[in-house]
Amino acid sequence: MIRLDAPIWKKLSSAGNDADRWLRELMEGKGDLRESIEVVAEDLSHQLSWYSATAYALPHLAALCPGLSKEDKVFLIAQMGAAIAAEAVEPLELDTEAYREFREGLEGLRRETAPLLTDPEVHKQLCGEAELGTMFALGALAVVGDRKHAYDLWYLSGSTWEEGPAACECGWEDETISLIEPPEFLEPVEIGLWDRRSLEDEAVWLSGLLSLIGDEMIAPILPLAYGTGTCPECGKREPYWTWMDRFVEEC
Ligand SMILES: [Zn+2]
Repeated sequence: MIRLDAPIWKKLSSAGNDADRWLRELMEGKGDLRESIEVVAEDLSHQLSWYSATAYALPHLAALCPGLSKEDKVFLIAQMGAAIAAEAVEPLELDTEAYREFREGLEGLRRETAPLLTDPEVHKQLCGEAELGTMFALGALAVVGDRKHAYDLWYLSGSTWEEGPAACECGWEDETISLIEPPEFLEPVEIGLWDRRSLEDEAVWLSGLLSLIGDEMIAPILPLAYGTGTCPECGKREPYWTWMDRFVEEC
């Protein structure tokens, strides 16, 4: 963990370039906790971009997390998920200070997030708050699951999860594949029921959690997101995630 008064913070970027100031207020317990979390998260996840300050902020947030109530932990993960997911599209170089900070923070947050996912009290809390629940599910996916999948699902929020992009290596691409009435070339996968305890199968726990909290936007399209596409031009079969990643990288 790099101290908040270290010179490096002057070189780190965030949307407002003052993540360290807000982080310091948060760590010192000044002001309203949730407001401070919101400001830090917005500063680090504006427009779903990656900011270099995120890597250095995470160990501080991971240190803050164990002292929070379950409700506030859920709020923190819900708010911070997009900033963490953004690393998937601009991966940090291994063996750098930024990478070590990111890993340290992520591991700390993972220890706090995994138990929340299977906690009946948390499930009960989120049942009445579908919006927070959806944000928490995506945030948890970024922390304990595949960051790229989390990023892709946030990306799809731009079409309220009704349409998704695809690109094949043969050059075929389509920006507006309907996920509500999917074309024949996109095959859904069958996602099993969640026992509310196991986190082994990402599609199962994510789908189970989203259904549990009453999400009606993302849960219905997950069988397609984890499904398989057959390119209408060249016939190559690939996971839909691969189609989407290729499109997102090219744009
Ligand atoms: Zn193709």
